[in-house]
Amino acid sequence: MARFQMLMRSPAVGVTRSPAFGVLRMLFPVIVAAVSAASEAQSAARPRIIVAISVDEFSADLFTEYRPLFKAGLHRLQTGVVFPGGYQSHAATETCPGHSTILTGSRPARTGIIANEWYDQSLSRADKKVYCSEDPSLPGSSSTNFTVSAQLLKAQTLGDRMKSANPGSRVVSVAGKDRAAIMMGGHAMDQVWFWSGKSFVTLKGMDQPTPAIVDKVNAAVAVGIMKPDLPVLPEPCRVRSVPVRVADKTVGVPRERKAGDFQGFHTSLAFDRATTDIAIGLIRELRLGAGKAPDVLSIGLSATDYVGHTFGTEGAEMCAQLLGVDENVGRILAALDATHQPYVVVLTADHGGQDLPERNKMHGILDATRVDAALLPANMSKQLAAEFNLPEPVLLGVAPFGDIYLARGIPGNVRSRVLEAAKARYLVHPQVAAVFTPAELRRLPLPSEPADEWSLADRFRASFDPERSGDLIVAPKPHITPIIDVSTYVATHGSPWNYDRKVPILFYRPGVVETVDILPTLAALIELPVPSAEIDGRCINLDAATGDSCAFERH
Ligand SMILES: [Zn+2]
Repeated sequence: MARFQMLMRSPAVGVTRSPAFGVLRMLFPVIVAAVSAASEAQSAARPRIIVAISVDEFSADLFTEYRPLFKAGLHRLQTGVVFPGGYQSHAATETCPGHSTILTGSRPARTGIIANEWYDQSLSRADKKVYCSEDPSLPGSSSTNFTVSAQLLKAQTLGDRMKSANPGSRVVSVAGKDRAAIMMGGHAMDQVWFWSGKSFVTLKGMDQPTPAIVDKVNAAVAVGIMKPDLPVLPEPCRVRSVPVRVADKTVGVPRERKAGDFQGFHTSLAFDRATTDIAIGLIRELRLGAGKAPDVLSIGLSATDYVGHTFGTEGAEMCAQLLGVDENVGRILAALDATHQPYVVVLTADHGGQDLPERNKMHGILDATRVDAALLPANMSKQLAAEFNLPEPVLLGVAPFGDIYLARGIPGNVRSRVLEAAKARYLVHPQVAAVFTPAELRRLPLPSEPADEWSLADRFRASFDPERSGDLIVAPKPHITPIIDVSTYVATHGSPWNYDRKVPILFYRPGVVETVDILPTLAALIELPVPSAEIDGRCINLDAATGDSCAFERH
């Protein structure tokens, strides 16, 4: 009816209230025109560009806190469909697993991306740790010196599916982090760009010419990094500028980034700005949306996560950062508008996050604390080695919590006893909420209840891959920060608790609704026929998640 209605309002047809006489005379051309307009309107409304933006560590808490301050892109996206408290439902709330869910429709148990890093003791190389977006089959690859690849992603992304349905679709991915670009882009990308630590680079073996925008941004960033950068705090962020002491350093008050400080570039506004510049440049250079088939562009804005890790989530640094994200998203939307192609945007995050324990305590979260060193895998290993008179390491683990592996060298006759003893040692520790074994998780069905009702075991089940997960999976109690050495990072995420699981999910298509759209929208819900010629409004689809509430009305 929307199409029909448009037609009825068009001056060419010139009919709004047809008197009884002459109806038949007028109806014939209307029907003919309606049929051709129908297919036209349908194809025009179908997006030509699908854009997925992931803001790394943009928790539901941060979205709610900063919503009133957004004036640009994040303000405009809120005129679409907003789910302020969506879920990255799984337990291992890290960047790689989180990004692997966004465009695959699959949880880490299916994508195989159980963490940023895990152990694979079957590897012949000395380094048994695997990085999620490396290809460990390549000679010389290690978890720290790797060739970036989607090899370990077991699922297909939207881009993969679009490409196999129609090879004319272009799949473009740009992110600050390689793992964000890879996990959203997938196995069949036409263009992928991510920050290598020195410049924006693409995958080895991608032999297309470098787009002009990438060279331009790399040149500008190279110059910019060599200059000092004194952040100017936006006015609404000034009240948040309160120093917090963490060991021998202070966070909460933005400081100058020194000339040549590459690590500091990660937490500067220039980082996301550069990523955004490349995304916008590619929209223009590739003429996204103007090809034979719809295109998909994923954008990973990674700096929010570095700000969260380096300064925590509740200081003036995060305030300035999120206002920067707002601005960058606004620039992306403006570039999409300028294509004059129909587009759709989804914005979400790979995981949430929590503040550093020192400031959490100041804010009344009294159980906030740092992990006890006894829980570090090396220390647990030492205790078990002494108890069983075994060589170290007995246990392998990337972090105190999550996947813990029994070393391959431990002899078969003691393996189950060592694991039992390790489990018992974890369970008596006051910072441990639960310990799961692969057998326990394997027995559980994949969770099907709403994600807010999941047990701890359900959350770990959704992160469990029998090929890759640990021999023990250790869950921390809430508000335990698994960082002891605060020299680089002071805060993190990764827990199965809701502050790390909850993220905003925003869908947006350009478009405007009117009050006259209310009646047809409600009428369609109860399948009440309303002749389109009698009204001005059109049905709005309310079923963002499940279907088409206008389906009746469209038939
Ligand atoms: Zn992170």
